Amino acid sequence: MYDGIVQDLIDEFGRLPGIGPKSAQRIAFHILQTESFDPTHLSELLAAVKERVRFCEVCGNVTETERCSICRDPRRSPAVICVVEEAKDVAAIERTREFRGLYHVLGGAISPIDGVGPDDLRIRQLMTRLADGTVDEVIIATDPNLEGEATATYLSRLLVPMGLRVTRLASGLPVGGDLEYADEVTLGRAFEGRRVVGS
Ligand SMILES: [Zn+2]
Repeated sequence: MYDGIVQDLIDEFGRLPGIGPKSAQRIAFHILQTESFDPTHLSELLAAVKERVRFCEVCGNVTETERCSICRDPRRSPAVICVVEEAKDVAAIERTREFRGLYHVLGGAISPIDGVGPDDLRIRQLMTRLADGTVDEVIIATDPNLEGEATATYLSRLLVPMGLRVTRLASGLPVGGDLEYADEVTLGRAFEGRRVVGS
């Protein structure tokens, strides 16, 4: 424990996801001890991100414009939509360079324990996107855990009867984890080996 604001700073970093008490302390002391560290730059950046970054009106990805760079890219195929839970999953899949279609970010996964139902996710927006018949394949790339599976099952029951080709990433992804933790090669292979979901 430290006195006053040093401890406040450590506590604040410790509240961030994935940062334990030791890392929080390390970051705080890095800031204290590094002469070249510019707190103004960091605080301005944080304020700008909170002010300027929003969610793409089409796919829900993070963007500084109304539509994200992927939705605006004419080289991407509008016939395939990959459905993911979070914007960070878009980044993970983009790193594999396996996918040239568009995305749809749900904003989470179905989880009765956490009180998250289908209406809390961007499923209605997905159905709107599918209404004009441009899309012929939907790849469901939810996380390989209970909530991700529940969400995938819910979506397949909606989408398969619509006559769409519905696919799921191949197994081989670390079960119970997040998509973002899979390495690029594994995720790329899971993409390539995706299987068609029946009704
Ligand atoms: Zn977008």
